Amino acid sequence: MTFHYPAQMIGAVIALIAAVIFQIYIPQFLGTAVDNAYALLQTGGPQEAARRALLTTGLLLFGASVLRGVFTMLHNYLGEAVGQHIGYELRMAIYDKIQRLDFRYHDHAHSGDLITRGMLDVEGVRLFVNTGIKRLIFLSVLIGFGTVRLLMANWLLGLLALSFVPIVGWRAINARLSLRESWQQLQERLSFLTRVMEENLQGIRVVRAFSAQTHEMEKFNQATAEAQAITSERIGIRVRNGTLMTFAFYVSMGLVLIVGGGMTIRGEITVGRLTEFLAFMTVLQMPVRQLGLLVNSFARATTSGDRLFSVLDEEPDIRETAHAAALSVTDAVLEFDSVSFEYQMGDSAIPVLSDVSFRAKRGQTVGIIGPPGAGKSTIAHLIPRFYDATAGSIQIDGQDIREVTLKSLRNAVSVIQQDIFLFTAGLENNIAYGDPWADRDKIITATNAAQLHNYIGSLPRGYSTLVGERGVSLSGGQRQRLVIARALLMQPSIMVFDDSTAAIDAATEQRILSSIEEHSSDMVSIIISHRLSSLLHADEILFVDGGRIVERGDHDSLLAAGGRYAALYELQANG
Ligand code: ADP
Repeated sequence: MTFHYPAQMIGAVIALIAAVIFQIYIPQFLGTAVDNAYALLQTGGPQEAARRALLTTGLLLFGASVLRGVFTMLHNYLGEAVGQHIGYELRMAIYDKIQRLDFRYHDHAHSGDLITRGMLDVEGVRLFVNTGIKRLIFLSVLIGFGTVRLLMANWLLGLLALSFVPIVGWRAINARLSLRESWQQLQERLSFLTRVMEENLQGIRVVRAFSAQTHEMEKFNQATAEAQAITSERIGIRVRNGTLMTFAFYVSMGLVLIVGGGMTIRGEITVGRLTEFLAFMTVLQMPVRQLGLLVNSFARATTSGDRLFSVLDEEPDIRETAHAAALSVTDAVLEFDSVSFEYQMGDSAIPVLSDVSFRAKRGQTVGIIGPPGAGKSTIAHLIPRFYDATAGSIQIDGQDIREVTLKSLRNAVSVIQQDIFLFTAGLENNIAYGDPWADRDKIITATNAAQLHNYIGSLPRGYSTLVGERGVSLSGGQRQRLVIARALLMQPSIMVFDDSTAAIDAATEQRILSSIEEHSSDMVSIIISHRLSSLLHADEILFVDGGRIVERGDHDSLLAAGGRYAALYELQANG
């Protein structure tokens, strides 16, 4: 990941340093002005020369103040711009990575946690770039240049004026470590809170159905209370350290006043020099008092940065090879060759498929049936490379799917999954999600085949009807038909129905299947279903159990074999 705003960044730092340097000159000019004014008060001196000197110093003071103001404005503007750009780039980088990470990652990552990282952690880093880095440079340059200037003016007073620095440094390092730990805990708690809230909202019907509001409130309350306790502890650390730092600073200031006052009385330094030291301390006062905030924002930014980079450093397992070419489909021959698959759960691997082989080409239908957990959906997920087979290979027209580009593969393969997702958008936009430029005729052909066109026609706003979270509620069957239309619109060469007609009544299902059959001369259809009636016409039916194909053949031969398929058919026919 790279950031693209070096010019603004460098500009901001230069403007900041310039502002600090002019800031340092102000106490010096002020001191000189006091000395000039003092000289004017003395009788017998060369009045005209003293007046001119006072005027010159006054003008210098004015000039330094104006320039300090101009550079401060400039670094504020550029700093804000860089902070916003970095926030934007980080947010985009995280979003891009989340889009590219494969199913293996998303199976284990929690969306609430990723949302917190994409929002709060990005903000943590952005704020530090915006204000923290600025304060840090400001203070370092001020103390750096100030040290040279003050020590040159008077080494003893210089040492006293800066005697607070080691104490402040020690406390800052200490506070940073404990604050970092506390931020880590807080970010984790906040991730958890987002997760609890997200689950509660998604499962709102289950919560109500089981009257579990009190239990949910308690869960939320406990998480909030924990976050609150961590925040209080963090504020405690910040306040304690901030107070100590400010106290050390005022002790230094007091020492300068006492020792410097004595020196002035004894005539060792002028009133102007003492004024310079005190004015310098006044300039330092604000940034030192803000040190607590600075350390806090640094601790937050490093914690947030770690959390962001742990996502950004993830590499998807499903990747294209360097020489991947676009899939070229002719007869759409899909071939599973001794495919085995294991899900990775932490360090252990759970075998799910073993030695699955079958072949189908354009115009053919493969039916897959078997008990729940047999591995049917997993077979479907391997075709568009949601996961990669652990052994064996899958080929389309002789091309290993690991050797072609993901985009061309996923354009050729549509899997209609069991869990349906609709975007908060119009019906038309939801259906044309894969091809936003599809014309109305193409959309209607797809919705007709999915037996949805008539229903949409009956809605007052037709295809513009809003669906998703804020739109009309569709029934389970209507939602399934919508995703079938969404997949059909893409005119894939291989179409997989993963139990996707389960919520549709048998008659509508038959209508959908026969209208798909009209188009199916163009594609390979793989129908996973627990309803045997959907599979009767399949060219080959695979009965899967425990990840293996235990019976295979067409309906008639399977019936004749009198095995498990025949028994299931018997059961469903009489049920
Ligand atoms: P079916 O579609 O036949 O019901 P699946 O292919 O969904 O079966 O699941 C096969 C097995 O793999 C099941 O034991 C299931 O628990 C397991 N499984 C499914 N998805 C995952 C996953 N993402 N991570 C780990 N195990 C999984």
